[in-house]
Amino acid sequence: MKTLPAADVVIIGGGWTGLLMAKELGSRTALSVVVLERGGPRKTDDYASSMDELDYAVRLRMMQDTSLETVTFRHSSRQRALPLRQHGSFLPGSGVGGAGEHWSGICARFLPDCFELLSRTTEKYGSKRLPEDHAIQDWGITYDDLEPHYTRAEQMMGISGKAGNLRGKQIEGGNIFEGWRSAEYPTPPTKIPYFSSLFREAARTLGYHPYPIPAATTSQPYTNPDGVARPGCFYCGYCERFGCMLGAKAQPTNTLVPVIQKRRKCFHTHWSLGPPNRARRREERQKGTWRYLHRRKGRRSISARGARLFGFLDSQQYSTAAPLGDWRALQP
Ligand SMILES: Cc1cc2nc3c(=O)[nH]c(=O)nc-3n(C[C@H](O)[C@H](O)[C@H](O)COP(=O)(O)OP(=O)(O)OC[C@H]3O[C@@H](n4cnc5c(N)ncnc54)[C@H](O)[C@@H]3O)c2cc1C
Ligand code: SF4
Repeated sequence: MKTLPAADVVIIGGGWTGLLMAKELGSRTALSVVVLERGGPRKTDDYASSMDELDYAVRLRMMQDTSLETVTFRHSSRQRALPLRQHGSFLPGSGVGGAGEHWSGICARFLPDCFELLSRTTEKYGSKRLPEDHAIQDWGITYDDLEPHYTRAEQMMGISGKAGNLRGKQIEGGNIFEGWRSAEYPTPPTKIPYFSSLFREAARTLGYHPYPIPAATTSQPYTNPDGVARPGCFYCGYCERFGCMLGAKAQPTNTLVPVIQKRRKCFHTHWSLGPPNRARRREERQKGTWRYLHRRKGRRSISARGARLFGFLDSQQYSTAAPLGDWRALQP
């Protein structure tokens, strides 16, 4: 097994989360960063020949191959967990960009209440309305804490939409129930199709407040603060389960990878290779070492200095993270 030179930070999993970390660390610190991704590399041009519904929407070409590697699943703690061998609505990706390549791109912010669910629920309904063994908690951070980060993420992706609450002022036509936002969306809303416009009108006449969904399928050509330019959407409809062949839908490969590549950060495409047993795996990870099987080059291992080994293997599933110095350096 070949041992590669240690890097300052090793990130396992190159989806939105892992690549965003790589971009931020690479552009705002002097740390060397290596991203290990199990699937292959991708670029916008590759998607020009991918509008094949049978191959991509039905046979799920972009998703994880569950015959090679999968997660286990059970409906209750009494059941035995079994490997998931057929995808349902959970469609994890594989390859650079992860699920962010074939996502739909709907980009709503969480509502302020979501961050303080316990406080707001008890405030409104009283603590007796919740069962004793409830698991509801406040997050520990609030919407106000995250607002500048939401704005920054929207600007990075060029989200199209219409503000409904600009610095506390309600604006009809946007979502008037959303949390306050410090800035308008970076691009105007996407076009409203005929049937949606009928629905919108009907909702409005009934006294509701319809608004266009915020979308990463950018409505017009846009250059983000990192200098990455993307064209506007031309409404072909091949967003979810496909990569956008124009690059109009914000995807890690068209939004983050150009910045990362400029700084010559490194990608490895590999299949994971677990250490022989769980204890050894834990021990190695605590030390910041990751073994893997490179597709062409065989078995390898790499260490992260100071055990800065991060796993971003799907933020919805699980993540392993080791401490990384002073996080205040990453404030926007
Ligand atoms: C079809 C679909 C539509 C969606 N639409 C929306 C939407 O409209 N709006 C929205 O907000 N969200 C949407 N989502 C969810 C969103 O896309 C995901 O939450 C997000 O992309 C997850 O990013 P991630 O980086 O956390 O994980 P992932 O994108 O899953 O990235 C993890 C990466 O880790 C790699 N990996 C896994 N195991 C290993 C290993 N052992 N070694 C090395 N690499 C490994 C994987 O190949 C993958 O590239 C959608 C998801 C799907 C599947
Ligand atoms: S051009 Fe627009 S509709 Fe077509 S895949 Fe790209 S973002 Fe989606």
